[in-house]
Amino acid sequence: MTGYETEAAESARIDTTKPHPARMYDWFLGGKDNYPVDVEMGEQLVAMDPRTLTMARANRAFMERGVRWLAQNGVRQFLDIGTGIPTEPNLHQIAQRVAPESRVVYCDNDPIVLRHAEALLRSTPEGVTEYVQADARQPETILEQAGKVLDFERPVALSLIALLHFISAEQGAYTLVDRLMSELPSGSYLMLSHGTAEFTPETGRTATEMYKARGLTLALRDRTEVARFFEGLELVEPGVEIVDQWHPELGEDEPAVDPSKGPTPGFVGVG
Ligand code: SAH
Repeated sequence: MTGYETEAAESARIDTTKPHPARMYDWFLGGKDNYPVDVEMGEQLVAMDPRTLTMARANRAFMERGVRWLAQNGVRQFLDIGTGIPTEPNLHQIAQRVAPESRVVYCDNDPIVLRHAEALLRSTPEGVTEYVQADARQPETILEQAGKVLDFERPVALSLIALLHFISAEQGAYTLVDRLMSELPSGSYLMLSHGTAEFTPETGRTATEMYKARGLTLALRDRTEVARFFEGLELVEPGVEIVDQWHPELGEDEPAVDPSKGPTPGFVGVG
């Protein structure tokens, strides 16, 4: 069915007894690939901060602008980890619209994404898309599989969109980014988006507790902590910024967020 899934992944069952980030996020975006446990927790998060829904759309819109910027600046290879359930337009569609020969490797650890991976594999004839079922905390596996499709002698954009706030520093968030970037040649990029509690500490604490109570990690970070992922890299202007403020002119749709509601609780950057 798909590319490099492992036997373990194939046998991985979809667990509907606890919420999963990919499925909650799908629900935030109005998708259908979610279960009552996901909706229940999603509704609680929205009750706490109604901007959760616009936030998901704003995050998606940043992915589009970031990929457009990278493609327009000559990047032809993308490694996207924490891909999520396919949502049009997917990353490869944006990149291949600018440059049909773009090569994209997707990666996620949730079996529900594997189930939908074919939708991620509809490449242009000139380009390639591939899907790897793996955990971001195992960068060696990802590099090995991605290396079959991507040429690590040429620039690659590593895309970690709304992924790293699910991985604590103790679980290796910073080291996995360093490890992946160390394999990519000069001219490569890191593009990421990240949830923050910097503007709403109380909500952030409650949300983190809600995740913890369900056995999930939520590691919201402030601007300085997000900027640390870019250590040793040169940041593209305007640097680490609030999600909707990063190159809004590259957006093709109406902005998802209403700035009068306060700063959107997410930081993004490309470096
Ligand atoms: N990047 C997409 C989806 C974000 S939702 C977007 O921004 O639109 C976060 C995704 O990260 C989910 O699909 C979840 O399954 C995945 N994820 C969370 N922890 C992960 C890990 N340790 N390894 C791989 N994927 C992970």
